[in-house]
Amino acid sequence: MSLARRLLLRASRSPWLARTLRHRAFFGRAVRRFLPGEDLAAALDAAAALAQAGLGTVLTQLGEQVTSRDEAAAVRDHYLRVLDEIRRRELPAEISVKLTHLGLELNPRACLQHLLALAGRAAEARSFLWIDMEESRYVDATLELYRAVRAAHPAAGVCLQAYLRRTPADLEALAPLAPAIRLVKGAYNESPTAAFPKKRDVDAAYGVLGGRLLELAARGGARAVFGTHDLDLIARLSDRALALGLTGGDVAGGYGVHMLYGIRTAAQRTLTQEGVPVRVLVSYGAHWFPWYMRRLAERPANVWFVVRHLFG
Ligand SMILES: Cc1cc2nc3c(=O)[nH]c(=O)nc-3n(C[C@H](O)[C@H](O)[C@H](O)COP(=O)(O)OP(=O)(O)OC[C@H]3O[C@@H](n4cnc5c(N)ncnc54)[C@H](O)[C@@H]3O)c2cc1C
Repeated sequence: MSLARRLLLRASRSPWLARTLRHRAFFGRAVRRFLPGEDLAAALDAAAALAQAGLGTVLTQLGEQVTSRDEAAAVRDHYLRVLDEIRRRELPAEISVKLTHLGLELNPRACLQHLLALAGRAAEARSFLWIDMEESRYVDATLELYRAVRAAHPAAGVCLQAYLRRTPADLEALAPLAPAIRLVKGAYNESPTAAFPKKRDVDAAYGVLGGRLLELAARGGARAVFGTHDLDLIARLSDRALALGLTGGDVAGGYGVHMLYGIRTAAQRTLTQEGVPVRVLVSYGAHWFPWYMRRLAERPANVWFVVRHLFG
């Protein structure tokens, strides 16, 4: 892992930097590239605009590691409201949540109850509940809660990270559930014992896992989603999907691509026109600092984008 990436990921965990930089105007201007706004209304408007271009969305409120049960309950209530808005505005939008934002560390049982409430409301809204994957220390608990939610509701999926050495085994263990899986490369600072340190190994692992996920979609009714901006990987996996006779779509046995708002925007539209269903993950909220640092770490050249806004 490059020094720049390591430093940015370390910065993402500094509450002092978050407090200091959040209110700097140049930082706010730079972050707008990846964030349509801090409030839900801005995210819903972005979802409506993307829908007009044929793109679905996944909405996520930024935040992680809440420190009280009341905060976790407020996050659940917020997402219930989001699902009601999705239904009211008839938006082709899904939601994605972080379990530490819903109080996983404080009370896993209450966290599961929040998830069940969200999955139930998502089904009523004809939407879908995604569960993000955070640092490797949360993987066991995240998969356990996903299993419980999936047993009660089909409209629920979980993210798996290709950089983790354990992920092939996790994918096989989930297979009998006909799971919905969003496969990503992985965004956190992990030890070499937990994750592949070299990007080329992560990319290779992604290709193999992606192929296997498509087989599970073709045979067992999994929903395969590729959460990546890596166009070579997407092209290879789309060819494989075609060869397996899979159709694009948000259904069991379907596949699609999810990308982040503001990244590879032209490719999002081209893929859609080519018949690969694309959803754009739209983040919003005031707690954007750690998340934004992870975006910079993915492409340290983005730091120049911030520097340019110092003078913009
Ligand atoms: C929908 C979605 C959901 C995600 N959910 C999670 C999650 O739950 N847990 C988790 O650990 N990670 C998550 N991630 C992040 C993911 O792990 C990667 O860190 C991120 O997607 C960058 O890797 P990449 O697959 O795009 O490939 P890369 O090889 O890093 O990038 C491929 C190309 O995409 C472009 N690109 C990539 N990132 C950026 C950027 N930040 N700015 C500008 N250009 C860029 C560049 O042109 C780059 O060459 C998610 C990503 C997506 C798209």
